[in-house]
Amino acid sequence: MERTLSIIKPDGVKQAVIGEVIKRFEANGIRVAAMKMIHMTKEQAQGFYAVHKERPFFDSLTDFMCSGPCVPMVLEGDDVIAKNRELMGATNYKEAAEGTLRFDFASSIESNIVHGSDAPDTAAFEIGYFFNSFEIV
Ligand code: ATP
Ligand code: MG
Repeated sequence: MERTLSIIKPDGVKQAVIGEVIKRFEANGIRVAAMKMIHMTKEQAQGFYAVHKERPFFDSLTDFMCSGPCVPMVLEGDDVIAKNRELMGATNYKEAAEGTLRFDFASSIESNIVHGSDAPDTAAFEIGYFFNSFEIV
C-alpha cells in the first residue's frame, strides 16, 4: 500500500470539479485517506514548491497556487503514485491523453488543475507539509 499527495489546485476549485476529481480517484480504486481545504499564503506555496525555486515559472506558479483555495488530499492504494499521475495526464495539458483530468479541465501549462507527487520521497515530504499523523485516517 502506497500513499501520495494530490492537490486540487485553485483553478480546479473555481471550476467546481472537486467532486468530479474525487469521483475519478474512487472509481479507480484509490482511497482518500485525508482531505482539507486551505488558502495558501505566498510563503506556504513557495515552501511547497521549493524544489522549483530556480525555475523561471516559480514566481508565477506560487502566485497561482495562492490565488484561491485548494484541496490537498492524501491518496492511498496499490501503486497510487503512478496511478494518480496517469489519471492526471501530462503536465502540459496539450500533451495530456484523452480522458485524463488535465485533458478535460486544464487551461494552460500552469493552470493544470491537479498536483500529484512524483516519487515516494517527494510524496513523504509533501504529505507531511499539509497533514500530521492524526489527520491521516
Ligand atoms: P505537479 O508537480 O503540479 O504535479 P508536474 O509534476 O506534472 O505537476 P512539474 O514539472 O513538477 O509538473 O511542475 C510543477 C507545476 O509547475 C506544474 O504542475 C505547473 O502548474 C507548473 N509548470 C510546470 N512547467 C511550467 C511552465 N513551463 N510554465 C508555467 N508553469 C509550469
Ligand atoms: Mg511535480
